[in-house]
Amino acid sequence: MQSPNLPGLRDVDLAGELSDLLGLPVKVENDALVAAFGEYMLLAEKPRSMVYLGLGTGVGGGLIHGGQPYPGDHGMAMEVGHIIVTPHGRKCGCGNLGCLEQYAAATGVIASYAEATGEQLLAHEIAARAKAGDSHAQAAYDLAGSTLGIAIAHLAKTLDPALVLIGGGMSQAWPLMQKALKDQLHQDLIPVLRDKTQIVVSGSGDQAGIIGAAYLTA
Ligand SMILES: [Zn+2]
Repeated sequence: MQSPNLPGLRDVDLAGELSDLLGLPVKVENDALVAAFGEYMLLAEKPRSMVYLGLGTGVGGGLIHGGQPYPGDHGMAMEVGHIIVTPHGRKCGCGNLGCLEQYAAATGVIASYAEATGEQLLAHEIAARAKAGDSHAQAAYDLAGSTLGIAIAHLAKTLDPALVLIGGGMSQAWPLMQKALKDQLHQDLIPVLRDKTQIVVSGSGDQAGIIGAAYLTA
């Protein structure tokens, strides 16, 4: 296994060593893909394919197809936070410019508000200001919504999922983002795909990852 955020951890058999220590089965998987699987397992009606987007400090993604998590050939499928939504845009930790998570994650909302006002607030403080009528705060969430709409349109055109499920801590600000998201998505989709993909916000709180991990080892 390897992780760009944990550079010292390369070619370590984490699952094997943990399993030996715990005496329990252990699997190592991407956190967003595990959360996607947890959300999927909680659905009463299971679609053939589902995309999960986890909005937090970054934007994670997971694809479930045919009832199974889809990790990709290199374990890197659905790195949706690094879909470029603004060419030549904000610098991202991955080295590229204009990645989705620089606009639609908490750090992106914070950056948008700071650019407009010079104030560094937390994302939930900006949400509170948006609800109180602060137009710069609402604009920061509008930009999060519209950039998510761009990314979801790309995903719908490539994967055609029945369902896009939005989770993660920042999904609590969904009412502030949904109009810009849906407007952008409608504009970007090809007509045959419009109104086909259901967009739903998670109701599982932060439990999806735990539930998905448990099902993976079942
Ligand atoms: Zn990036």
